[in-house]
Amino acid sequence: MQDDVAKVLVSEEEIEKKCKELAQQIEADYQKKGQVPIIVGLLKGSVPFMAELIKYFTFDCEIDFMKVSSYEGTRSIGDVRIDMDMTLSTKGRPILLVEDIIDTGRTLVSVKKMFKNKGATDVKVVSLLDKPSRRTFDINADYVGFSVPDEFVVGYGLDYNQKYRNLPYIGVLKPEIYED
Ligand code: 5GP
Ligand code: MG
Ligand code: MG
Repeated sequence: MQDDVAKVLVSEEEIEKKCKELAQQIEADYQKKGQVPIIVGLLKGSVPFMAELIKYFTFDCEIDFMKVSSYEGTRSIGDVRIDMDMTLSTKGRPILLVEDIIDTGRTLVSVKKMFKNKGATDVKVVSLLDKPSRRTFDINADYVGFSVPDEFVVGYGLDYNQKYRNLPYIGVLKPEIYED
């Protein structure tokens, strides 16, 4: 599997250091507001990032997960299909969404709208990666780990055909992997 990687873009050490920094920033913001957020990981890509991030939280928070698919094509923006729902109620609660990567922004627009419809008081977003050059929807994460160029990346939760999620770093695959 490691042989399939052409280039490491972000190392495990860099990710861990960044998670500590993001956690401190997020913690300070929630403590200032006196809120107990539900931290919602969007499956499956956010799992390693969320696990690393919440290790450094020392404030009261709850965690949950959900799996969604956003629609493309003729449907209006904001449609989202819930493949697996969370167990906690979001009504009246502040939400911190955990994402692996923001690409076009479509998923984020849809999910934020869905949480507002479900009665969340406040929806903030933390994403491990951001691909700003690909954005077609006017939306950004509140907290971002790393900006990446317009390349398809894998590892640390991100997959290619469900593989490579368990790589401990963010990398780019060799072209022949996609050509097979
Ligand atoms: P968006 O809705 O922002 O266009 O897309 C977000 C989703 O597309 C991500 O959660 C991720 O599943 C997928 N995605 C976008 N760019 C990449 C990439 O470079 N690598 C991988 N593995 N998935 C990506
Ligand atoms: Mg995602
Ligand atoms: Mg994927």
